[in-house]
Amino acid sequence: MNGIVTDYERQVFAEEFSGRVPRKIFDSHVHIVLRRSYPADRGTESIDYLAPHGGEFSVQRFFEVYEELLPGVEMSLAGFGMPAMHVDRSDAADFGTDNERVFGLRLLSAYDTVEQIEADIRKHRLAGVKPYANMALKTPGREVELLDFFTPEQLEMLNRLKLIAVVHIPRAMRLEDPLNRKQMKYLCEKYPDATFVFAHIGRAYYQRCATKYVDEFVEFPNAYWDTAMINHEGVLRYTFDHFPAERILFGTDAPISFIRGKSVEINHQYAYVMPENYDFGTTLIDTTGKIRYVPFLYEQLRSVLALDLPRRTLEDFFFGSAHRLYTTTVERIHGK
Ligand SMILES: [Zn+2]
Repeated sequence: MNGIVTDYERQVFAEEFSGRVPRKIFDSHVHIVLRRSYPADRGTESIDYLAPHGGEFSVQRFFEVYEELLPGVEMSLAGFGMPAMHVDRSDAADFGTDNERVFGLRLLSAYDTVEQIEADIRKHRLAGVKPYANMALKTPGREVELLDFFTPEQLEMLNRLKLIAVVHIPRAMRLEDPLNRKQMKYLCEKYPDATFVFAHIGRAYYQRCATKYVDEFVEFPNAYWDTAMINHEGVLRYTFDHFPAERILFGTDAPISFIRGKSVEINHQYAYVMPENYDFGTTLIDTTGKIRYVPFLYEQLRSVLALDLPRRTLEDFFFGSAHRLYTTTVERIHGK
């Protein structure tokens, strides 16, 4: 990958991951970002973590980078654009899904029409949608809530077509927030034929956030978690101990997960500790030059391998569960 992976990282892979991670991995949380989907006056230049990839992140680049980071592993992905109102969301969904190794979701704004979303899903043979707080309905004077992410008509369509929504819940308290959990349950209950994959285990990057709250979603068969950017062994352990493993999906937030650093819990909060400054979340920049870092992806792998899950569970987590979910979803709507 144009020298992005260092010799040191090759050594880490050989010592810690080779032969331990499954031969097939499905990354269920990938941002495919194409420059052409952005307006001329608001391009991708300001997205700093795209710089190592030439200002965009294509499907081809995904495979190239993983070939370097996880040599010999056969990768699949579920991808979607980087959420923003100024992105051409129809165009961003056109990145070459084949529904074998490459599955896709359409960015969804609450301001998009159901007709347009459905047309894009059919045209690009997509598996569902990716809403986000920055594309939600805005009510002056009130913070965005989860239910503002969609209109009721959009939710009816998701349910009717039995689609997947990868949902990054809003608000500072994340999974600890009672209103968030109430609205998450409302979605799962009211739209039982849609699948809701709550990203980052409901943004539970520190222990207290996951503890007991993940249990509340066991009873909803259409509630899933993805583990993107979670490298907290305790959070993962709790989740695997208290939630059906087949509804926990591996995902990374690539290309963000290719940056070097580690997410660290600090007093019921967390920060990304990194040797270089990138603009996402709360970051602590280490200027000592004394610590060697590896990509967040490697830290994620370490934390899940530390759980010593049974081989079968590990293979399902890394590949089988997401592959099954995405394959059945696209076959149902688009046929074989
Ligand atoms: Zn993401």
